[in-house]
Amino acid sequence: MKTDFFYGGIEAGGTKINCAIGDGPNNIVAETRIPTTTPNETVAAVITFFRAYQAQYPLQAIGIASFGPVDLNPHSPTYGYITSTPKPGWANVDLMGAIKQAFNLPIGFDTDVNGAALGEYRWGAAQGLNSFIYLTVGTGIGGGGMFNGQLMHGLVHPEMGHIPIPHDRQRDPFAGVCPYHVDCLEGLATGPAMEKRWGTRAENLPIDHPAWDLEAHYLALAMHTFVCMLSPQRIILGGGVGSHPNILRRVRKQTQTTLNGYIHAAEINEHIDAFIVAPGLGNRAGVLGAIALAMAAGSN
Ligand code: ZN
Repeated sequence: MKTDFFYGGIEAGGTKINCAIGDGPNNIVAETRIPTTTPNETVAAVITFFRAYQAQYPLQAIGIASFGPVDLNPHSPTYGYITSTPKPGWANVDLMGAIKQAFNLPIGFDTDVNGAALGEYRWGAAQGLNSFIYLTVGTGIGGGGMFNGQLMHGLVHPEMGHIPIPHDRQRDPFAGVCPYHVDCLEGLATGPAMEKRWGTRAENLPIDHPAWDLEAHYLALAMHTFVCMLSPQRIILGGGVGSHPNILRRVRKQTQTTLNGYIHAAEINEHIDAFIVAPGLGNRAGVLGAIALAMAAGSN
């Protein structure tokens, strides 16, 4: 260990919570994975993990990158809460408050995808950029990122997984799975949507199965919207489905097709391999992003 400064990272997901202590991808001194059960049980296990290392690796700050929706407004009475999630037991949970109370340290709090975006900015595929998107496609679809050097927040935070998507019901009669919008992007293209549509888990679909072209079609329509709306310098595509080897190449090609040469940028028309990319930090983007949130909070 080459430094005296340690940071705690909490990547809170709907099925598991990844916790780590360190200060970057090459310097993680402890980590663990905790199943997401009830809020009380899960938060207690997170606190126990960090307390076990408190003497050995005293923390400067803790970062939380959480599934949501979450309240990111520091002036709100429910700042740091998970708000309206459909996940049973987790709506209106004061996640940040529970960690703050246990450790009394500076806490960085953001969405899971903004956390991952900050990790990619610091150490991964978004280094040197000031406007980019991090989109994860797995059991859900979420997007965050930076705009002009600031993590995207706005009124609440972006919900890129819930944009409406043109749905050709002749090509794809499947209704969709979003409990709020039925056939939004998440409703049509999330892992559970693929499983329900095709009757088998996405990772078991063969490479030549039409599922992959349809999936790439929906993701390319989303890319089209994001490119036109936010003009990102790069889009990082992560998550279990998003990082599947069958997806990236198809999404790039179909994004070029749907944009049809309109955007005047060689990055899209000639070098799209470097424009839509996999996370530089792989599946550790989330927990490293939480550490990056801690480092940002600790330096304030
Ligand atoms: Zn939706």
